[in-house]
Amino acid sequence: MDITAQIAERLCGIALEAGAYRAGVISTDEVKTDAAFRKMCEQNLCGNYGRSWMCPPDAGPIEELMAEVRTFSHILVYQTVGELEDSYDFEGMMEAGARHNQVVRRIRDELRAEPLKRVLHLGAGGCRMCETCAKKTGEPCRHPELAMSSLETYGINVSELAKAAGMKYINGQNTVTYFGAALFDLSDQEN
Ligand code: SF4
Repeated sequence: MDITAQIAERLCGIALEAGAYRAGVISTDEVKTDAAFRKMCEQNLCGNYGRSWMCPPDAGPIEELMAEVRTFSHILVYQTVGELEDSYDFEGMMEAGARHNQVVRRIRDELRAEPLKRVLHLGAGGCRMCETCAKKTGEPCRHPELAMSSLETYGINVSELAKAAGMKYINGQNTVTYFGAALFDLSDQEN
């Protein structure tokens, strides 16, 4: 097994152990990005636009963030799946989102111990480190080393990412699926 396959197996193991439903590692060449995702953020359906340091516009121009994705060689993609009572179960969605964030934090903490030179974690729906983001109170970010943007903020097409990593974007009726990812770079240590 070459070094990339060994690292991929190890990182997927960490993600599954942390509570992910599925995990996979693919090359960033397979990651599709699109600047049109910024237009969706600007519609502010989630209410975070301009209200989180890790969301647009404060996270930076999308072209720059998409270019940053290309500076990494690989991406660990993982998903969590929550059960809902029905498609209107908002409380269930929030609980599944909170469980997903716990998984994301566990994976982030575990990956710190790995011999990876550069890692960029991206989550679902923006940074959830603080109950109230410091952006809302006009203060600097409280935890810049832990703060996390969403995949969409970086222009990543998550449904295509799921497909490339061999996962379903939706996992059946009355479920909610959330994605997380960690970009890392093996460009000078492959094989
Ligand atoms: S760490 Fe806290 S202050 Fe910083 S972006 Fe995240 S939620 Fe906002």
